[in-house]
Amino acid sequence: MTNSDVNKQNSCMDDFDPDSLMVTDALKNIYAAISPISESEVVPIRESLNRILSKNIVSSLNVPTATNSAMDGYALHGNDIPKKSTSEIKVIGTAFAGKPYQGKVGQNECVCIMTGAVMPDATDTVIIQEHVERVDDVILIGAETKLGANVRQAGEDIATGDIVLEKGARITPADIGLIASLGLGNVEVTRKLRVAFFSTGDELCSIGEVLKDGNIYDSNRYTLFGMLSELSIKIMDMGVIRDDREALQQAFEKAASQADVIITTGGVSVGEADFVKEILQATGSVNFWKVAMKPGRPLAFGKIKDAYFFGLPGNPVSVMVTFYQFVKPAIRHLMAETKTETVTIQVPCISKLKKRPGRVEYQRGILERDKNNQWVVRKTGAQGSGILRSMSQANCFIVLPVNSNSVEPGTIVEVQPFF
Ligand code: AMP
Ligand code: MG
Repeated sequence: MTNSDVNKQNSCMDDFDPDSLMVTDALKNIYAAISPISESEVVPIRESLNRILSKNIVSSLNVPTATNSAMDGYALHGNDIPKKSTSEIKVIGTAFAGKPYQGKVGQNECVCIMTGAVMPDATDTVIIQEHVERVDDVILIGAETKLGANVRQAGEDIATGDIVLEKGARITPADIGLIASLGLGNVEVTRKLRVAFFSTGDELCSIGEVLKDGNIYDSNRYTLFGMLSELSIKIMDMGVIRDDREALQQAFEKAASQADVIITTGGVSVGEADFVKEILQATGSVNFWKVAMKPGRPLAFGKIKDAYFFGLPGNPVSVMVTFYQFVKPAIRHLMAETKTETVTIQVPCISKLKKRPGRVEYQRGILERDKNNQWVVRKTGAQGSGILRSMSQANCFIVLPVNSNSVEPGTIVEVQPFF
């Protein structure tokens, strides 16, 4: 649906704002404004974990390199397997993984073989040891094994020239194993982004300071640290900046000269925005949006010099919601990651959820199994945008679409897991 569809809704509702931007449009605008970086660096394989590949990885060898046995058993010529009844085959040696059998293997001869051992001379089939009867140097085999059975062909996993991993992929534990299986010790990845952030607010104290009347400890810098740490980037924590023109101006300038991305929290809500707006008008091109979402309505996005800027709301839950919905996908896009879509699943909700049409809501949920072992979601309790415990208890967002009303227990809802 479009903005104007929403505009036609009953405008007496609190949650409806005719000037607001849809979440999907805000995200589209952000993606359109960001050009992924092209600079790359070569890092040792272990350091490439969770980084973004800047080149396809093409195999220069077959994996496995040689045809080998998938089981412990006896390697032989498949045409020696009897069509019916049984045959006697002579055991002439043993092949171990890493220590192949070097001799010839004739008709009606076999080699005792271990899993992973290279298939000896011209043999093509392995009969597993449970399927034979062995008496001294002779095995008795039946007709049950098929020609070519229990053998892993050279190049079966990866063939020379195969694209094993594509440019733009985020490197997983399986991927570094795969890269190691090709014998590669270094990987080319996009360079690390530098992300600077600071909190704004005269009421904020840092850990170690004594709280005075009306003060609170700054928690946003810690949730941001946590969320950013999962992205393999360089983090620059610039602390708390007072609601002071000069101090803010300096902080923005310093951040813009050192970082690719600047994130601030607080100071973009009505009443405070004007102040920040004035400062940013001088140094950059920043839009102040009202996004049709809850929590997290006010959001600033744009550029300060060459750095992308995200001005998030101050409330602790709003910070996390706007980070996950906008900043995280934007950073992944900027890092040149190709697949940046957030995974959602559909599950029954067992709580009643209060909602009014007009905004997409990100309620905090707990995904768990019910007594029938089925996955369901329930809400965490109070849903205020300042209640950080609701995030701490949650393992997912319950995403309620813009036009939806309250949810009755048993309704299928969309859920974004945090894991
Ligand atoms: P603001 O967007 O600056 O008006 O802040 C909205 C609310 O979030 C206020 O109650 C602030 O005290 C609170 N808040 C702002 N920044 C932080 C922070 N860094 N840590 C915890 N709470 C904050
Ligand atoms: Mg403030």
